[in-house]
Amino acid sequence: MSARSHDIVIVGGGIVGVAAALALLRNGFDVALVDRAATRPPAPGAEVDARVYAIAPGSRRFLDTLGAWPGDPGCAYQGMQVWNADPALSLRFDAAAAALPELGHIVAHDVLLDALWNRLGAARLVQGETVDSFAVEAGGARLGLSGGGHIRADLVIAADGAASSLRRLAGIETLGWPYAHQAIVSHVQTERPHRATAYQRFLPEGPLAFLPLADGRSSIVWSTARAGERMALPDAGFAKALHQASQDCLGLIGEMTPRKAVPLRLLHARDYHAPGLALVGDAAHVVHPLAGQGLNLGLADVEALLGCALEARRTGRKLGSARVLARYGRARKLANLEMLATVDALYRLFGLQAPGLDNVRGLGLALVDRVAAIKGPLLRRAVGI
Ligand SMILES: Cc1cc2nc3c(=O)[nH]c(=O)nc-3n(C[C@H](O)[C@H](O)[C@H](O)COP(=O)(O)OP(=O)(O)OC[C@H]3O[C@@H](n4cnc5c(N)ncnc54)[C@H](O)[C@@H]3O)c2cc1C
Repeated sequence: MSARSHDIVIVGGGIVGVAAALALLRNGFDVALVDRAATRPPAPGAEVDARVYAIAPGSRRFLDTLGAWPGDPGCAYQGMQVWNADPALSLRFDAAAAALPELGHIVAHDVLLDALWNRLGAARLVQGETVDSFAVEAGGARLGLSGGGHIRADLVIAADGAASSLRRLAGIETLGWPYAHQAIVSHVQTERPHRATAYQRFLPEGPLAFLPLADGRSSIVWSTARAGERMALPDAGFAKALHQASQDCLGLIGEMTPRKAVPLRLLHARDYHAPGLALVGDAAHVVHPLAGQGLNLGLADVEALLGCALEARRTGRKLGSARVLARYGRARKLANLEMLATVDALYRLFGLQAPGLDNVRGLGLALVDRVAAIKGPLLRRAVGI
């Protein structure tokens, strides 16, 4: 059967996949986007998906260049406070003190996705289908679709998330392990205003974050080894547990949206490419959410891959050639691995239990807070500048 042909086919209509489609389209590539959902995501507002992301300034700049930074992007957060046992021994970041307009934005998943889809005029959309086969043939790659059709491209981009079927079909192995934590997420009302500050406490059972929302509520991400027990609590019991765990940082907890628990794992693809195929976003790497970096890393992958595609066009190389894809791998693999390892080390450091260790960790955070030579680079790393 003859197959329609494109420069690039992207599989996966999440934020990373749609950002990749938009970035490549805007630069004149002929792009098709395949997603298993039959329709585009619903308009924001329904809170069907309570996920929010801490978007670093570097990611915001990239989305801006795509014309896809939302008109109403949520809360620009100015401060961050991190502690473990004693809030007096905290590490604090402050945008004004670092001469930054903000540390980042807390943006809802559906707001970001909607802004991207709204710009996606000219892409060919293949919706409601998954990919059954991947084959490399002369001059490109050929995908078999679940509806029986085929589609071919010079380059296929796998943006189909952590359980990527393209990664499996291409035989790319992964390294990784599940965490003992599950992340409980919900939007909560708090007694005191958040003052555009993100709070994170490292508890023995796992880190608890309060991310400020524009409507005055906070979005919580509680990565906990006690998720089953915490999820079984009625709202009032959960609110009490949250209040205790947060050491009253925002006062009592009021109304909350239904809680969801998400299993967490670390995953890293051994290779970011195979002939005719590149992996981006969670298809290539999955990181614990305690540092809010997963999506930021995925958007940085897209930016790097765009650079490689533009360079290939300028030098007359084929998009899916080993040389072009190796350049992409070099640009991203080490940087992502470094972040995965750092976050995994933090997970382990704060998970260790021994008498007196809480004091040592608290003093460590307070020390970092006072030493500009450590705090400055840490902040630049955290906000991606
Ligand atoms: C609790 C939590 C909090 C987080 N907080 C942050 C944060 O603050 N900041 C941050 O940067 N990151 C954060 N992350 C990480 C972030 O959620 C992910 O890194 C990001 O969503 C990955 O996007 P993606 O587009 O690569 O994958 P996904 O969002 O998983 O999208 C994959 C897409 O592929 C489609 N698909 C899947 N399989 C197929 C198939 N076979 N065929 C066709 N289509 C397919 C799906 O329908 C979906 O549209 C957090 C994660 C968690 C769990």
